[in-house]
Amino acid sequence: MLRLWRKIRRTGRVAEPSPERPTSDGRAFAGSVQVRHVDAGSCNGCEVEIGSAFGPVHDAERYGARLVASPRHADALLVTGPVTRNMAEPLRRTYEAVPAPKVVVAVGDCARNCGVFAGAYGVAGAVHEVIPVDMEIAGCPPRPEAITEALRKLTGR
Ligand code: SF4
Repeated sequence: MLRLWRKIRRTGRVAEPSPERPTSDGRAFAGSVQVRHVDAGSCNGCEVEIGSAFGPVHDAERYGARLVASPRHADALLVTGPVTRNMAEPLRRTYEAVPAPKVVVAVGDCARNCGVFAGAYGVAGAVHEVIPVDMEIAGCPPRPEAITEALRKLTGR
C-alpha cells in the first residue's frame, strides 16, 4: 500500500478519494466544521473574500465554521487558486493529512477551472485535477455570502 502511495505521488496522479463522502445534500458534519484554508496559487482576491466571510459582518463562525491551522485538525479544506506546479504535491499531502470523513471545497473560478490562469506555464490544473472536490463556489472572486452559504451547507446551520 505504501509503495502504491509513493507511486501515485511520483506519477502525480489524483489522490485517492476519502472513503467516507458527505451526504447527498452536502451535509457531512452536523453543527460544526473545522476548516483549513489552502492557497494553491491564488491572486489573493479569494483570500480577501474568505477573510470577509469570517469577519465581523458575515461571521461564519456563528454558523459553526472555524478556521484551524493544521489539516490534521480539519474536517474540510477550502482551496483557492489554480493549482500551481509547486503547490500540487503540498496540496496532495495536505489532503492526505485531513482525517476522514473530509470534504474539499474549491473556492473561486480559478480553483474550479483555472479561470484567467488557464493554460499558464506554471499551472498544473484545477483543484479537481489534483485532489477530489466535493463542492465548488463560483465567482472571481466569489462573494463572501456565497462562501458563508457553502460553509452553512456543511454545518447544517
Ligand atoms: S478566482 Fe479571481 S479572485 Fe480568485 S484567485 Fe482566481 S483570479 Fe483571483
